[in-house]
Amino acid sequence: MTYTGLFRVWATVLVAILAAILLSMAAFTTGARAQPPCSGKVVLDPGHGGTDSGAVNTKYRLTEKEQTLDVAYKLKALLVDDGCTVYMTRTSNSQTLSNNDRYTYANSTGANVLVSIHMNGSTNPSTDYTTTLFGKWRKDKDLANTVFRSLWTLPAANGTGTIATRKPYSFASGVLLKSNMPATIAETVFITNDREGELLSNNTGTRQQQIAQALRVGIEDFLTTH
Ligand SMILES: [Zn+2]
Repeated sequence: MTYTGLFRVWATVLVAILAAILLSMAAFTTGARAQPPCSGKVVLDPGHGGTDSGAVNTKYRLTEKEQTLDVAYKLKALLVDDGCTVYMTRTSNSQTLSNNDRYTYANSTGANVLVSIHMNGSTNPSTDYTTTLFGKWRKDKDLANTVFRSLWTLPAANGTGTIATRKPYSFASGVLLKSNMPATIAETVFITNDREGELLSNNTGTRQQQIAQALRVGIEDFLTTH
């Protein structure tokens, strides 16, 4: 190989290395911008608990109270990792809470948002969609819409495309109406759906992690824009 030939080879290698460095820097910058550190306070309210199991998937022996607590802990870890301060209305499956307990606790924290985590139920095992609920239009609508937009990115339980959706709607729950911060009930997925039941009962916790990740994006989007 001639001296010029060797130089060309090295120049090519050098350009490739520089390009790789620049690309990784660009990816880092965009990544940082898309997911900024969190400085907000978040109350997570795992639905149901104690004597109230919530919706049940009998085929896969799943209860809503256990699933929502699981998702809440995963979500808490993600949010704390990003710098958010996180409060939880309940931390075990033996606690039975009234709506009054939930909003009284939430109001005592001075948090910026309250997200109540639920899974929906239906007698039809093929029904599955995601939605969010709001109480007071002016207080809750933006949060309900923002969390809804991140939930609709959830992969469909059958593996094709994303989960079906139902537009956020008004629901007269004390948790929403009597909390003094923007609040939403996230009806993440149908626990009664056959495919969801199969995914949720997988002990890798992948489905619960996907749900937690979607909620994290919505909550952090809301905090950075409000
Ligand atoms: Zn529920």
